[in-house]
Amino acid sequence: MTPRAGDHAIVLGAGIGGLLAARVLTDFYDRVTLVERDALAVDGPRKGVPQGFHAHSLLARGLQIMEELFPGVTEELLAAGAVPYAAAQVRMIMGGLEFARAPAGDIGVSATRPFLEGHLLRRVRALDRVAIEDGVQVTGVLTRGDEVVGASVAGPDGERELPADLVIDAMGRGGRTPAWLEALGFDRPEEDTIRVEVAYATRYVRFPDGAVEGDRMVLVGTSPETLKGAALCEVEGGRWLVTLGGSAGVRPPADPEDFLAWVDEVLPPDVAAAVRDGEALGEIGVARMPTSVRRRYERLGRFPKGLLVTGDAICHFNPIYGQGMSVGALDALALRDCLREGTRDLAGRYFTAVAKALDPPWQLSTGADLALREAGNQKTVASRVLNAYLGRMRRAAARDWRVAEAFTRVTGLIDPPSALARPAVIWRTLRG
Ligand SMILES: Cc1cc2nc3c(=O)[nH]c(=O)nc-3n(C[C@H](O)[C@H](O)[C@H](O)COP(=O)(O)OP(=O)(O)OC[C@H]3O[C@@H](n4cnc5c(N)ncnc54)[C@H](O)[C@@H]3O)c2cc1C
Repeated sequence: MTPRAGDHAIVLGAGIGGLLAARVLTDFYDRVTLVERDALAVDGPRKGVPQGFHAHSLLARGLQIMEELFPGVTEELLAAGAVPYAAAQVRMIMGGLEFARAPAGDIGVSATRPFLEGHLLRRVRALDRVAIEDGVQVTGVLTRGDEVVGASVAGPDGERELPADLVIDAMGRGGRTPAWLEALGFDRPEEDTIRVEVAYATRYVRFPDGAVEGDRMVLVGTSPETLKGAALCEVEGGRWLVTLGGSAGVRPPADPEDFLAWVDEVLPPDVAAAVRDGEALGEIGVARMPTSVRRRYERLGRFPKGLLVTGDAICHFNPIYGQGMSVGALDALALRDCLREGTRDLAGRYFTAVAKALDPPWQLSTGADLALREAGNQKTVASRVLNAYLGRMRRAAARDWRVAEAFTRVTGLIDPPSALARPAVIWRTLRG
């Protein structure tokens, strides 16, 4: 039986992390309030989530967890127009080599971020115990001694206090917990920061009929020489989302002609032709992300009772690896598993569980970033050996779909990175 943890919990921020946390909390609290600054009726990218304009791939593990928390959501997404894809429909190009394609495998779901978020929001709204307060800004936390006992919010009807047994900061990369900790006399968490200087330029395009037949996604990994890459995916509404990405300070252009020149340079000729000959829909949008940041809450000796953090507010990644939403889902599972054990030392157990879940995706993305960009003394012998092996593995993946599959299961967060060191994978990697 699920133990009851309290009367009221509040989630601050209704992004993917906040929606999933709210769903989990309904198993343990009588009432859950979700507070969001934006008006959530908006269909399409909203102010608080500007990244929603750009490609948002949902990793296999992220989709699995969403299905576990919201049974039937995959079918709902597909029925509403999200694009199903099999491994054999993903054209993955790394270091100029195209991966061999697995003949079978689980079905993934491709959609825009607002579409995915809209469906999760609908499911959360339908939960009896949830109240959603949108158009309402979080202004602070309420405290008693060194405990957090609610949040203060400001909306159209002025400032109010919302008392609660638990408050979760899901306000994204601008999460306020470090500042609140300091104000309460606690230490701020240490931060691991990796400079990535990634920039995106995105345009929605309707491809000509029959273009890139058979493919539903084209992923071109960042080239170490040019520091350019691209992600194209078919999404709801018969459109393709064309996102160009530059790393280490390289910026894809927002000018339409320069955008197409970059398309010709980075993409295989048939895909570049589909973009050129397709119907451009709307303007080109750009985004920049200077750093990946991991806040080490698990290392703090003291943390206020009544407060937790989730999603990007704990760790935000270089987006080119498509991990953020799936990691938010992993945080939600950690929350559920910890609450099943009761509320004693909840923060200590939760941040430890989250840190364990975060280690693989953080190692994958920062390892790849360090390989891409000489990062001075950050580049260790271990990372050099690992990157040489991964380079060899990418070459093996071009001729052996089983290696490609092992690689994508790890990057999809289904298998741990140690799966790449299984004897069968090592043998297949080295035999070429
Ligand atoms: C360009 C780009 C591309 C990306 N691509 C991918 C991808 O391909 N795949 C992937 O999985 N992830 C991707 N990500 C990461 C992904 O967007 C995030 O990891 C994910 O949205 C985590 O969500 P979150 O809920 O923690 O935070 P957010 O989605 O940022 O949500 C935070 C919410 O808090 C609200 N909020 C903030 N302050 C307040 C306040 N004071 N009061 C009330 N509400 C507030 C905001 O309005 C927002 O709704 C990408 C990120 C970027 C920048």
